Amino acid sequence: MSDSSASSLATFLSRHSRLFVLTGAGMSTDSGIPDYRDQQGAWKRSPPMTHQTFMHSDIARRRYWARSLVGFQALSEARPGRAHRALATLERGGRIEQLVTQNVDGLHQRAGSRRVIDLHGQADVVRCMHCGATQMRHAVHAALARINPHWTGQEASVGPDGDADLAHDDFGDFSLLSCARCGDGIFKPDVVFFGDSVPRSRVDAAFAALEGADAMLVVGSSLMVYSGYRFARRAAELGKPMACINMGRTRADALFSLKVEASAGETLDAALRTMATPPAGEVVSQAPAART
Ligand SMILES: [Zn+2]
Repeated sequence: MSDSSASSLATFLSRHSRLFVLTGAGMSTDSGIPDYRDQQGAWKRSPPMTHQTFMHSDIARRRYWARSLVGFQALSEARPGRAHRALATLERGGRIEQLVTQNVDGLHQRAGSRRVIDLHGQADVVRCMHCGATQMRHAVHAALARINPHWTGQEASVGPDGDADLAHDDFGDFSLLSCARCGDGIFKPDVVFFGDSVPRSRVDAAFAALEGADAMLVVGSSLMVYSGYRFARRAAELGKPMACINMGRTRADALFSLKVEASAGETLDAALRTMATPPAGEVVSQAPAART
């Protein structure tokens, strides 16, 4: 990141005091959670589980929960990074109308952001797809660990949704839980999987906030998925100025008046420092005269 990109971003942030911020997986890489896509916007790992596969394949669910038992631990231990803290600081300064995140890691809230819409849900809640009963994910994992003791304690590389690559390829002996309330449900993390749609109420709330905002800032998202891209498209239709901090190309590159290809944490920190520093030549306070 160059000094000029930090100061261009600082200028953008100073001009617009009611920001609509959209964040994606690139936010959380500083927190040790990898993102999905490379510089060209292609998948870095095997594509994530789709809603249809999860709902229709018993073996896919066994594989998902076995991998998640290992991978989710890393997700739940992640801490907010510089970019999360910088956005929380901007919100405290009254500059954020709405923050919409595609991430399911809850790190914005842990950094202190309050005006957050979790577009794709939060990964720490599990829902029965038959009766709708919800429970906390750590309780589900504890129960799964009790009935699958030989599956715990493995090392694996982890994906942004808590999925993990295990050396195993036979998941047939991984036992699943049945719902204590209806006895008949499929347990699924209460998040929007690829191939599923975001609940209408969340989308409407985000669109309404975008209408009231005076600019849009995209942080750490390639916008390859329509669920996020639609907000960039609407902002362009509404004539809102748009800026983006993302490593690599995005689907909306043509729409941005400012694009910074650098680490989100470093860039936001540098922009906040620039905003806090008075322009050269301005006298802030008189130094006390030296005594003689
Ligand atoms: Zn149930």
